[in-house]
Amino acid sequence: MSIPIQQIAAAVDADRLWTRHMTMAKFGALPGDGVCRQAFTAEDISARRQLLAWAKQHGYAAAADAIGNLFVRRPGVDPALAPVLTGSHMDSQPRGGRFDGIYGVLAGLEALNALDTAAAETQRSIELVAWTNEEGGRYEPGSMGSMVFSGALELSECLALRDADGVLLEDALAAALASTPGIESRAFNFPIAAYLEAHIEQGPRLEAENLSIGAVTGIQGTRWFTITVRGDTGHAGTVPLAVRRDALQGAVAMVQALNELTTDVDDIVKFTVGRFDVEPNAPNSIADRVVFTVDLRHPDASILMRLGDAIPERCREAAPRCDLEIIETATNLPCEFDPAVVAAVEDVARELGLGCMRMPSGAFHDAQHINALCPTGMIFVPCRNGVSHSPAEYADPKSLAAGTKVLAAALYRLAS
Ligand SMILES: [Zn+2]
Repeated sequence: MSIPIQQIAAAVDADRLWTRHMTMAKFGALPGDGVCRQAFTAEDISARRQLLAWAKQHGYAAAADAIGNLFVRRPGVDPALAPVLTGSHMDSQPRGGRFDGIYGVLAGLEALNALDTAAAETQRSIELVAWTNEEGGRYEPGSMGSMVFSGALELSECLALRDADGVLLEDALAAALASTPGIESRAFNFPIAAYLEAHIEQGPRLEAENLSIGAVTGIQGTRWFTITVRGDTGHAGTVPLAVRRDALQGAVAMVQALNELTTDVDDIVKFTVGRFDVEPNAPNSIADRVVFTVDLRHPDASILMRLGDAIPERCREAAPRCDLEIIETATNLPCEFDPAVVAAVEDVARELGLGCMRMPSGAFHDAQHINALCPTGMIFVPCRNGVSHSPAEYADPKSLAAGTKVLAAALYRLAS
């Protein structure tokens, strides 16, 4: 028997949802409301254990796959049917906030709880997933868990990665898996009926429009590059400029050339150099090695590919004396979400009386990779001043609850 979605929305417990956010924020808490909870660290492991403790409290079975993605299951009437999935990630940026990623996981958990409270039966099981290493700050690429799950990335390629301290991903992953013993093992890429991910917007549009819900239509594409520039070090006071191979001057010229390459009066191309490491990094030594990153984004695949492909030549031209090594560490092509899932989000929001607009996502998300496997969509909720990837990131309890109501009701429809 089907029940009105208003009844499911009313069963969402905003206080419990908020309290769980504050509990999770303690794992890796930084001064000023920040969070540092990078993949497979002790803080990430604490969050994993906490999630499974809550799942157990509510009688949900848990499972993990070989890259450490966690699955929590609310069984449907017919457990043989492919489940509907919801979730996001629990890892954070090194100086991240309390809501990016973890919101989608906790909203998913609260949605399962609300369906229980409302005694809402679904034909299909609904599974909450916490994807491993979405941020990619410790081990690149980001979205690693959903990429390995979907087959876009091989597990074997990930195992050999090392973090900045030389820790092998294989070892860090083994420790994370060992921290949640006794749960079922899951295969990659099992059949999924639909995937719906809730996330804070990480941009200013919903707040500016005074709307509660973004029905996300798709995600722009991203290409990441790590660029290593090599020159020769020497004394800053004695080596003649004419013979120098200054890696820092070379890198600065490259960044300038790439700024020109990616100039866009319409502000659609997004080009960012977020990391810049200089060696030996001394005031009176010429730099002999610079490593910098490029994050390039565009919603149009052909433009994204053209601009990214032009990067090596532009860099070489900008500093012909330096040696250059360019590695592309991540490629996420733009995606469009399933129209039926986007419409389901919009319909539910309207029926619950919540202001909603359709919008694309500027940030990448795990949903980008799951979109290749099944009908997929996302729900955005506003965050203060659009700030994210920062300790100042904030979403108020009411906004978090509104997104969770839409999530719970949409999951109910997708799984019925
Ligand atoms: Zn995120």
